[in-house]
Amino acid sequence: MNSASYLNKAAAKLLTIALSVEPVARSRHAAGLVFRRTLLVTGTNKKKTHPLALEFARNKDATTLHAEVDCLVRWVSRYGVTTLPDCELVVVRVSAKGEPTNSCPCKGCSRALRSFKVGGVYYTEGSSGLLRKL
Ligand SMILES: [Zn+2]
Repeated sequence: MNSASYLNKAAAKLLTIALSVEPVARSRHAAGLVFRRTLLVTGTNKKKTHPLALEFARNKDATTLHAEVDCLVRWVSRYGVTTLPDCELVVVRVSAKGEPTNSCPCKGCSRALRSFKVGGVYYTEGSSGLLRKL
Protein backbone atom coordinates (compact mmCIF):
# COMPACT_ATOMS: atom_id res chain seq x y z
CA MET A 1 0.00 0.00 0.00
CA ASN A 2 1.42 3.36 -0.98
CA SER A 3 1.10 6.07 1.60
CA ALA A 4 -0.31 9.47 0.74
CA SER A 5 2.03 12.03 -0.78
CA TYR A 6 1.79 14.39 2.19
CA LEU A 7 3.07 11.58 4.41
CA ASN A 8 5.97 10.91 2.03
CA LYS A 9 6.75 14.61 2.07
CA ALA A 10 6.79 14.56 5.87
CA ALA A 11 9.07 11.50 5.78
CA ALA A 12 11.51 13.27 3.43
CA LYS A 13 11.71 16.24 5.82
CA LEU A 14 12.16 13.89 8.79
CA LEU A 15 14.99 12.03 7.02
CA THR A 16 16.93 15.29 6.72
CA ILE A 17 16.32 15.91 10.45
CA ALA A 18 17.42 12.34 11.34
CA LEU A 19 20.68 12.90 9.44
CA SER A 20 21.54 15.75 11.82
CA VAL A 21 20.81 13.78 15.02
CA GLU A 22 23.59 12.66 17.30
CA PRO A 23 23.42 8.83 17.16
CA VAL A 24 22.16 7.07 20.31
CA ALA A 25 23.32 3.45 20.34
CA ARG A 26 24.13 3.91 16.61
CA SER A 27 20.54 4.92 15.88
CA ARG A 28 19.32 8.16 14.38
CA HIS A 29 15.55 8.55 14.44
CA ALA A 30 13.17 11.41 13.76
CA ALA A 31 9.42 11.40 14.26
CA GLY A 32 6.79 13.93 13.28
CA LEU A 33 3.13 14.52 13.94
CA VAL A 34 1.07 15.47 10.92
CA PHE A 35 -2.21 17.32 11.42
CA ARG A 36 -4.45 18.20 8.48
CA ARG A 37 -1.72 17.04 6.08
CA THR A 38 0.85 19.35 7.66
CA LEU A 39 3.92 18.33 9.63
CA LEU A 40 3.62 20.48 12.76
CA VAL A 41 5.84 18.96 15.45
CA THR A 42 8.98 16.84 15.23
CA GLY A 43 11.07 14.91 17.73
CA THR A 44 14.35 13.01 17.71
CA ASN A 45 15.93 10.29 19.81
CA LYS A 46 18.06 11.58 22.66
CA LYS A 47 20.42 10.22 25.28
CA LYS A 48 18.54 12.07 28.01
CA THR A 49 15.41 10.63 29.53
CA HIS A 50 11.97 11.97 30.42
CA PRO A 51 9.22 10.78 32.79
CA LEU A 52 7.19 9.59 29.78
CA ALA A 53 10.20 7.73 28.40
CA LEU A 54 10.45 5.89 31.71
CA GLU A 55 6.73 5.12 31.73
CA PHE A 56 6.80 3.70 28.21
CA ALA A 57 10.28 2.14 28.19
CA ARG A 58 10.29 -1.28 26.53
CA ASN A 59 12.30 -2.49 29.51
CA LYS A 60 13.84 -1.00 32.66
CA ASP A 61 17.23 -0.47 30.96
CA ALA A 62 15.81 1.24 27.89
CA THR A 63 15.28 4.70 29.27
CA THR A 64 16.57 7.00 26.53
CA LEU A 65 14.03 9.26 24.92
CA HIS A 66 12.83 7.75 21.64
CA ALA A 67 11.87 10.04 18.76
CA GLU A 68 8.20 9.03 18.95
CA VAL A 69 7.91 9.88 22.65
CA ASP A 70 9.95 13.10 22.23
CA CYS A 71 7.50 14.14 19.51
CA LEU A 72 4.47 13.26 21.69
CA VAL A 73 5.88 15.29 24.61
CA ARG A 74 6.38 18.31 22.35
CA TRP A 75 2.92 17.98 20.82
CA VAL A 76 1.16 17.64 24.16
CA SER A 77 2.96 20.66 25.64
CA ARG A 78 1.92 22.77 22.65
CA TYR A 79 -1.53 21.44 21.66
CA GLY A 80 -2.71 19.10 24.43
CA VAL A 81 -3.99 15.57 23.88
CA THR A 82 -7.41 16.11 22.30
CA THR A 83 -6.10 16.55 18.73
CA LEU A 84 -3.91 13.42 18.72
CA PRO A 85 -6.61 11.10 17.30
CA ASP A 86 -6.69 13.42 14.25
CA CYS A 87 -2.91 13.21 13.81
CA GLU A 88 -0.67 10.79 11.99
CA LEU A 89 2.79 10.06 13.30
CA VAL A 90 5.61 9.36 10.87
CA VAL A 91 8.87 7.92 12.18
CA VAL A 92 12.06 7.42 10.17
CA ARG A 93 15.51 6.07 10.90
CA VAL A 94 18.76 6.51 9.01
CA SER A 95 21.58 3.98 9.00
CA ALA A 96 25.24 4.76 9.70
CA LYS A 97 25.56 5.20 5.91
CA GLY A 98 22.84 7.84 6.03
CA GLU A 99 20.22 5.73 4.24
CA PRO A 100 16.64 5.14 5.39
CA THR A 101 16.23 1.90 7.29
CA ASN A 102 13.61 0.07 9.32
CA SER A 103 12.06 2.30 11.97
CA CYS A 104 9.17 0.18 13.19
CA PRO A 105 8.29 1.60 16.65
CA CYS A 106 9.44 -0.51 19.59
CA LYS A 107 6.94 -2.07 22.01
CA GLY A 108 7.25 0.85 24.43
CA CYS A 109 6.61 3.51 21.78
CA SER A 110 3.76 1.48 20.27
CA ARG A 111 2.17 1.39 23.70
CA ALA A 112 2.65 5.17 24.13
CA LEU A 113 1.15 5.90 20.69
CA ARG A 114 -1.87 3.69 21.44
CA SER A 115 -2.30 5.17 24.89
CA PHE A 116 -2.31 8.72 23.43
CA LYS A 117 -4.72 7.52 20.70
CA VAL A 118 -2.60 8.79 17.80
CA GLY A 119 -4.73 8.42 14.65
CA GLY A 120 -2.23 6.55 12.47
CA VAL A 121 1.42 5.51 12.60
CA TYR A 122 3.76 5.15 9.61
CA TYR A 123 7.41 4.08 9.59
CA THR A 124 10.19 3.56 7.06
CA GLU A 125 10.49 -0.10 6.23
CA GLY A 126 13.78 -0.37 4.40
CA SER A 127 16.39 1.48 2.37
CA SER A 128 13.75 2.56 -0.14
CA GLY A 129 12.38 4.91 2.50
CA LEU A 130 8.85 3.72 1.69
CA LEU A 131 6.39 4.08 4.53
CA ARG A 132 4.46 1.23 6.06
CA LYS A 133 1.43 1.60 8.31
CA LEU A 134 1.78 0.13 11.79
ZN1 LIG B 1 10.71 3.30 20.85
